[in-house]
Amino acid sequence: MNPEQMELTIGWLYPTLMSTYGDRGNVICLKQRAQWRGINVQVMPLDQQTPAETMRQVDIFMGGGAQDRQQEIVMRDLRGIKAETLREKLEAGTPGVFTCGAPQLLGHYYEPALGQRIEGLGLLDFVSKHPGPDARRCIGNVVFELTASPLAQELELMLGTKPVVIGFENHGGRTYLGNVEPLGRVVKGYGNNGEDGMEGAFYRNAIATYSHGPLLPKNPFVADWLIQTALRQKYQTPVSLKPLDDTLAMQARDAMFKRLALTHLS
Ligand code: GLN
Repeated sequence: MNPEQMELTIGWLYPTLMSTYGDRGNVICLKQRAQWRGINVQVMPLDQQTPAETMRQVDIFMGGGAQDRQQEIVMRDLRGIKAETLREKLEAGTPGVFTCGAPQLLGHYYEPALGQRIEGLGLLDFVSKHPGPDARRCIGNVVFELTASPLAQELELMLGTKPVVIGFENHGGRTYLGNVEPLGRVVKGYGNNGEDGMEGAFYRNAIATYSHGPLLPKNPFVADWLIQTALRQKYQTPVSLKPLDDTLAMQARDAMFKRLALTHLS
């Protein structure tokens, strides 16, 4: 079966409530890279009106960042059958990228800058806490080496070199992992909390990260891994995607490495 006969449904979690930080860039990139391979792509918004049952059609989840207040609204809506459906999908290996505010909801809880603790879905073993409105936010370019298994190994095979991710972070909350694998090791920036050198988390095929909407455009190999993994899951057959011309993305990465004085990584 070739990719031209395949279809992908991207489930975009709460696009109106959780798009404060430009994470639609990830959705656009994913859709475009799949379409360039002739794959038929549908982007399905998953919002307050969407019945839980609809989530079952999703092949890749995308969830973006939000402000504390919006996170609380989303959390209230997700509780119950929607949370259960999301849990089942992720446990079954449906891939996804959950950015910043979105993973805070997947953990045990998020303590916002002001107000009550927001109970999370407890799908991933971590907690997130905002140290308060006067605390410094973690803002800036972030670079990390992907270490999560088997993601890092699969990407190393694909690239012929250790995968390094360039991102941009902007968060007040700090995340502390329990029994879940980090996504990567911070080279530059704050990552989960600015203390333990870890960035994000990886569970089954779900990527949780503080790296925002340029994640997939700046690291197109992650987008291709998501597409490939989703198609493999859906069609139960090995899939190889035809390479695209990523010269511009690679030049942008090199420029960023230079700027951050990390030329040994390019
Ligand atoms: N409100 C959360 C925080 O400040 C998430 C922010 C975000 O999604 N960028 O940590």
